[in-house]
Amino acid sequence: MQKIVYIDLDGVVADFEKGRKGHSMGNITPYKGNPDKLPGLFKDLDPIEGAIESVNKLLDAPQFDVYFLSTAPWDNPEAWMHKRLWIDQHFETKKIRKRLILSHQKHLMIGDYLIDDRKNNGASEFRGEWLHFGSDSFPDWVSVLDYLNKI
Ligand SMILES: [Mg+2]
Repeated sequence: MQKIVYIDLDGVVADFEKGRKGHSMGNITPYKGNPDKLPGLFKDLDPIEGAIESVNKLLDAPQFDVYFLSTAPWDNPEAWMHKRLWIDQHFETKKIRKRLILSHQKHLMIGDYLIDDRKNNGASEFRGEWLHFGSDSFPDWVSVLDYLNKI
């Protein structure tokens, strides 16, 4: 049986921090301290190092059924669209088509693994195994792939 793997976007595949810091309106009201609302932020994020190749390996692996599971800011509806466009821009369309789930309730998803950098939006209550990206156990994509390859 395939193992279901969910992959968060911001801080795991897309470099939200770099995008936030580099955004031209990051220091003005009402965006200062509220980066989730920055216009176009989610459309132009750079990928995290090693993320695209690593996710492609998982997408190609017959033992895994892979989905993106991200939260888009409720008060920034364009972010919902931009996340959909972002994965299409960075991955082969046929591999990722209809594999994006946007939710504030990640704990409701049924699956085996969730790769996520934060406990928010239900990640820490996920009923499969949470691979805490950026933690000492999973500091980067090399460590995540090493772990999943041993399954
Ligand atoms: Mg994240």
